[in-house]
Amino acid sequence: MRMHLLAAGRLRMRKSIFLPDADRTETIELPVMSALIRHGQANVLFDTGCHPAVPEDPAARWGSLAKIMTPIMSAGDNVLTGLAALGIQPDDIDVVVNSHLHTDHCGCNAFFPNATFIAHALEVEAARAATGDMTGYIAADWESADKLDAISSERDLFGDGRLVLIHTPGHTPGSIAGMVELERSGRMLLAGDTVSLQETLATGIIPRNTWNADALTRSLAEVRRLASSGATIIASHDAAQWETLRKGAEAYD
Ligand SMILES: [Zn+2]
Repeated sequence: MRMHLLAAGRLRMRKSIFLPDADRTETIELPVMSALIRHGQANVLFDTGCHPAVPEDPAARWGSLAKIMTPIMSAGDNVLTGLAALGIQPDDIDVVVNSHLHTDHCGCNAFFPNATFIAHALEVEAARAATGDMTGYIAADWESADKLDAISSERDLFGDGRLVLIHTPGHTPGSIAGMVELERSGRMLLAGDTVSLQETLATGIIPRNTWNADALTRSLAEVRRLASSGATIIASHDAAQWETLRKGAEAYD
């Protein structure tokens, strides 16, 4: 089994959203990522990043959300480009897992016609209940998925422990993380926005864009436990860590 990390957009946001004590004028850049997991049984995408139309006209796709998350990627910086570079067509994707349903994690879902979509049942409920474009949920990203597999407990996707989905609520009600078990690289946790920045994990400082602080504190404790048992934690939007990770054809195996 191999895991390819793929670029799926880039955002600029106020640092104080993640670290509330930071100066209100300070901004940070956040990479957006997708992970392609090539298992003998299936090709799985964990998160699909931002929609390809976002760089040209952010407000058309995102409405006023584009004011808090400023897209700074160039045209073509999306998961479809990364897959094409590996010789993978959208038709080749069998399963899409969404860590949660905010638009920077499921923006390309609609491009995978053969995929079954997995999200947590609480996340599907939250996304459907959300109103207005400031909530992070954009219905066009996920509403057309006909093959939806809404999970409500831990899921060992292939029954062999290679990809296990864990409920890590806090950022949103139905956030999930993916524990990937690789032969040479060992265990790697795709943490989603439970750990947007490594600093959140290190300090326990709760970002402002959190649904439930107590739940996130508990989920961060669980992630720390996994880290101390040897798992590598992959933050979803940490620019410094992203620089150090293998990307594209250079896979983890
Ligand atoms: Zn995110």
